[in-house]
Amino acid sequence: MTKNTRQVKIGNVVIGGGNPVAVQSMASEKTEDVRATVEQIKRLEEAGCELIRVAVPSREAVEALPKIKKEINIPLIADIHFHWEYAVGAIEAGVDKIRINPGNIGGEDLVAKIVEKAKEHDTAIRIGVNSGSLHPKYYKEEDIPTALVKSCLEYIRFCEKFDFHNIVLSVKSSSVVDSIKAYRMLSEQTDYPLHLGITEAGSLMKGTVKSAVGLGVLLADGIGDTMRVSLSADPVHEVQVAYQILQSLGLRSYGPEIISCPTCGRCDIDVIPVVEEIEKRLMTMRTPLKVAIMGCVVNGPGEARDADIGIAGGKQEGVLFKGGKAIRRVPAEDMVEVLMGEIEKLIDDVKEKEARD
Ligand code: SF4
Repeated sequence: MTKNTRQVKIGNVVIGGGNPVAVQSMASEKTEDVRATVEQIKRLEEAGCELIRVAVPSREAVEALPKIKKEINIPLIADIHFHWEYAVGAIEAGVDKIRINPGNIGGEDLVAKIVEKAKEHDTAIRIGVNSGSLHPKYYKEEDIPTALVKSCLEYIRFCEKFDFHNIVLSVKSSSVVDSIKAYRMLSEQTDYPLHLGITEAGSLMKGTVKSAVGLGVLLADGIGDTMRVSLSADPVHEVQVAYQILQSLGLRSYGPEIISCPTCGRCDIDVIPVVEEIEKRLMTMRTPLKVAIMGCVVNGPGEARDADIGIAGGKQEGVLFKGGKAIRRVPAEDMVEVLMGEIEKLIDDVKEKEARD
């Protein structure tokens, strides 16, 4: 059960207040290169990205924002460090949210200009405090999570002085343990919606594990209203991994779930290439189905029976299960095509039923 935070509207997406945890990513193309950025955002949209952030490190990037916004279908977030005038420019350019770390903007008077402009345009601000860019005055705190939270709370109070509440918060660290502690602490002290992330989490494999552990623990506690998985990889993977984390916790659906055995010495069929091929082909499907691909008769029939569609391996063949019943035997070399054929039929049935309802 997600904690009941305040609702904040970011373009056409509402986060907080029990809404589904929204998945976001960050474009890695140069924002100044409108065409490349838009192309990348389109790929991210297709993968299910619901909010997109772009870096705004120059005047040219500010000028690119309205052109990018015109071409995309999801809310646009401008990420700004150091330059208050870029933040004001981004808000005037019509972005749906800006992300700043008020500690590196250069003074309260400059942060005030941003907050006043955001209020005037009804633009949300994410106060994004990171362990790597903490204001030096917080270095003396006893630990990083306390420093992150104290700094974040101080910035909230600053925004509230302007009667500005269109706020989203993040307290990211590259340490999973520090991030969990910081978000838990922050969640107890505020009801503004939280954007979750483990910053600079690493490569596709290592970053996925760190994000799944860190964000998974928080999400299981009901903490988090939006999330980004930060990976040193194509950002499309960030979206896919975020949904896999959410799906594994039963918080969002992202298409078919594959139950597959890790294989062992009892296996007489080559399960791994079948799983890889089916997973690849199901990547763009969004119908929630359970597909089991199992190697032998120990757990195979049970899992296959439990799934919408499944196969349990035997001697160079498998038994196909559908809706809990064994249907027929399938030679090992035909498994992928037979499974895909059955999955496609099931998806058509689901779609037809949805259309009737
Ligand atoms: S299902 Fe069978 S082959 Fe697969 S891991 Fe379990 S015992 Fe081994």
